[in-house]
Amino acid sequence: QQQRRLISRQRFIQDFSQCLFEFVVQLLPTTEEMAVKEDVRKLLERLIRTIEPDSRLLSFGSSANGFSLKNSDMDLCCLIDSGERLSAADLVTMVGDLLERETKFHVKPLPHARIPIVKLNLDPSPALPFGIACDIGFENRLALENTRLLMCYASVDPARVRTMVLFLKVWSKRRKINSPYKGTLSSYGYVLLVIYFLMHVKTPPVLPNLQQMPPLRPISEEESHLNGYNIWFFDDIELLRQRWKSANTDTVAELLIDFFKFYSRDFAYNTAVASIRAGLLKKEDKGWATEQSDIGTSRERNRLCIEDPFETDFNVARCVTKDGLYTIRGEFMRASRILQSRPDRAILALAQLCE
Ligand code: ATP
Ligand code: MG
Repeated sequence: QQQRRLISRQRFIQDFSQCLFEFVVQLLPTTEEMAVKEDVRKLLERLIRTIEPDSRLLSFGSSANGFSLKNSDMDLCCLIDSGERLSAADLVTMVGDLLERETKFHVKPLPHARIPIVKLNLDPSPALPFGIACDIGFENRLALENTRLLMCYASVDPARVRTMVLFLKVWSKRRKINSPYKGTLSSYGYVLLVIYFLMHVKTPPVLPNLQQMPPLRPISEEESHLNGYNIWFFDDIELLRQRWKSANTDTVAELLIDFFKFYSRDFAYNTAVASIRAGLLKKEDKGWATEQSDIGTSRERNRLCIEDPFETDFNVARCVTKDGLYTIRGEFMRASRILQSRPDRAILALAQLCE
């Protein structure tokens, strides 16, 4: 009896891994979609150069980190290389006016946001059935660096890391727990949770810690720091692929099942900070013990704590509210339950997960 159960569980794990790969592959953007987006980037860059000739418009976020899904939004960052330049707020206003005049995009400049951006939307058309959503920010060099860091992690073990991340992105969107504006977590936050799990929870680890590896040559303070933050990490992916071979042989299905189990019952939400840079940290030690704001409406910032890999004084999950965290944990538990309950058809389990 027990033997039979074990065999059927093993078969489920195998099938579920296969299903995950197939599911994720059909969610990847087509080459056509990527080409259209690249054309849009070039067009916007050309227009912005009429105001700032020394500027470059670069992709970051999912379109540049290896975790992009069909119809995901475009995150663009404008870098200006000349010495003198306008404030981000002024640039947002000027670029907003320009794009309003010169393009078919619906334009919404947000010059006074924490990170000033211009929001662009293009209506759906036959060639682009979902339209395009795009944010342009200015001089956000840390975002370019964290995009590069995630890209490196995606390429260390693409079969497992990319599959897990892409699945979790779809899952969190379908389960409606992927919107910082509504008190849940951004895609960026979920990616960090996956990396934290693969690096600091699994033994042996699936991922190396690129921020703690010794550099190949001495690095000066100037090279390694940006705005006072240490942004150095081991980024020679070719070399890494030759040298790093994880001793962990779990399949992607096993990792995903453990991921849900870990975040539904083992992670110490009340006291812990997940840091991919430094492992498990304490809220108390970072001064992130849950604060109550004094305006009566006790809005808490640090229910869930995920340290940004470079901006270490920044909690990536600061938008997650008490209710949001309750919902997210409920979803981790639901997923864990579905995957533990001896489902016999992997494809049905997957469908139920993303219902
Ligand atoms: P999606 O496909 O859902 O848009 P994404 O990979 O683009 O996913 P986002 O959450 O949109 O992820 O984040 C895009 C980029 O913006 C991240 O790579 C990161 O550089 C930056 N970013 C987003 N949220 C935060 C945050 N809370 N703190 C710091 N940087 C963030
Ligand atoms: Mg994005």
